[in-house]
Amino acid sequence: MTDNNVKEIEDLIKIVSKLPGLGPKSAKRIVLRLINNREELIKPLTNTLAQVYKNVVRCNICGNLKSANSNCVCNSKKYDQICVVENIADMWAIQSSGIYKGHYHILGGTLPSFESKNTGGALLIESLVNRVKKNSVKEVILATSASIEGETTSHYISDSLKGTKVKITRLAKGVPVGGEIEFLDDGTLFSAFKNRGPVVSD
Ligand SMILES: [Zn+2]
Repeated sequence: MTDNNVKEIEDLIKIVSKLPGLGPKSAKRIVLRLINNREELIKPLTNTLAQVYKNVVRCNICGNLKSANSNCVCNSKKYDQICVVENIADMWAIQSSGIYKGHYHILGGTLPSFESKNTGGALLIESLVNRVKKNSVKEVILATSASIEGETTSHYISDSLKGTKVKITRLAKGVPVGGEIEFLDDGTLFSAFKNRGPVVSD
């Protein structure tokens, strides 16, 4: 058993239990495994974490993660489709479903439904408009959640893109109301993507 009087261990358990899906019990189990495998686990983990901390940054154009000293994929060659998601986890869910293989734009959240339209600055919406113009993008696929916030954000984005000629589509309503993209099964995601429809602006 872990000796709870050791401050270093207590601190580590506290941090690990903050990770998603882990409570204090599983955190203890993980910490114990680490301690019992100092060379095989703690050493490489420490190095890798330090590298990630130092070198992985968020691209301020597309919102994706990138290595600090290399160009982001959004800056590589031209592309004609962009799928807009709220966060990285949503992008990973769509990627693993295999339905879409194009470029992404990660907003970094949603607009609060109750706030005025002028709050778009915090999310990467302006840079989306710039990407669409710069690359003459033909289709923007809005894959935000089917929640009020997701819908508000999606409307705000299609308004912002009005000046461009881009075709804007939204995932089909197969996405359950309130449904977060990250937690959809591949089948639902697949059909929502396949049946995506044009966004009608009012
Ligand atoms: Zn980028």
